[in-house]
Amino acid sequence: MTGAEASSPRSDEHAPLTPGWSCGSCGDEWPCATKRARLLEEYGDRAMLSVYLGSCLAAASEDLRTAPVASLQDRFIGWLPRGPRTR
Ligand SMILES: [Zn+2]
Repeated sequence: MTGAEASSPRSDEHAPLTPGWSCGSCGDEWPCATKRARLLEEYGDRAMLSVYLGSCLAAASEDLRTAPVASLQDRFIGWLPRGPRTR
């Protein structure tokens, strides 16, 4: 906490800031577009990613009690590619 966060090498992590669940790097609603792309790369397996995002959704719905659950579900999980990747 030195006030030097502008030069921090960790500023590109796109980690969520709680309890507002905005992106710590770009300020968009988390998960932002950059984070979504990284999660898809990082996990590869959509089922595992769904589990992770489900836990994030559960935590976020505790923090964001005024937000409609449907919109949170859409925000955290709705962006995932649907169906098995059989093509
Ligand atoms: Zn971001």
